[in-house]
Amino acid sequence: MKILLVEDETDLCKQIQCELYRENFTVDLANNGEDGCFFGSTELYDAVILDLGLPLKDGVSVLREWRSNGIATPVLILTARGRWQDRVDGLNAGGDDYLVKPFQMEELIARLRALIRRSVGVASPEITFGDVCLNAETGRVHFHDKAIELTGNELKLLTAMLLRPNKVHSKTELAENIYGYNEDRDSNTLEVYVARLRHKLHRNFIRTIRGRGYTIGNGICPDL
Ligand code: CA
Repeated sequence: MKILLVEDETDLCKQIQCELYRENFTVDLANNGEDGCFFGSTELYDAVILDLGLPLKDGVSVLREWRSNGIATPVLILTARGRWQDRVDGLNAGGDDYLVKPFQMEELIARLRALIRRSVGVASPEITFGDVCLNAETGRVHFHDKAIELTGNELKLLTAMLLRPNKVHSKTELAENIYGYNEDRDSNTLEVYVARLRHKLHRNFIRTIRGRGYTIGNGICPDL
């Protein structure tokens, strides 16, 4: 799952980034409102963590701009301001949830995961498709009730596909789920991960749709 973190406090950024990496998220970072607004408008993310007090452009303005341009990515607002009016402004501008600083990293991760699940219509942390079951909280994967060991990148790839099972995922989209903005996105490496997942799960679990990408479902839901 790919997250955009828009936050200007360097230490907090590092802490959140570290925790997200540990939890197998891919993270793009923006440390001011203008960059954040640009990334959120031009890249695909599963969710955004958005600070409200930002240099160059404040978080509420960033959020209003996204929503008025039809960008529906779920947004978790972070704010140091304890005033209830700020939280209401953030939610009214199109925020989906909020956390007031200081907060526990565990709560941030739990809220983020819940937000992403809700945005794709999955209510439980257990995401099941066919004989494959992923617990999005623990990262444990079972196939036919047997535990399967996956590497971080294999897990990222499987999670992206399980969250939107009937979508045809282009190689570019899947590579973006694995690699951050500044990393090389190698589609050959992606093919290696797909091959490994097929080997560990079932060779027909991921289908190649020629010229379009990969799907685990019927491939008739391209826009979700
Ligand atoms: Ca700030």
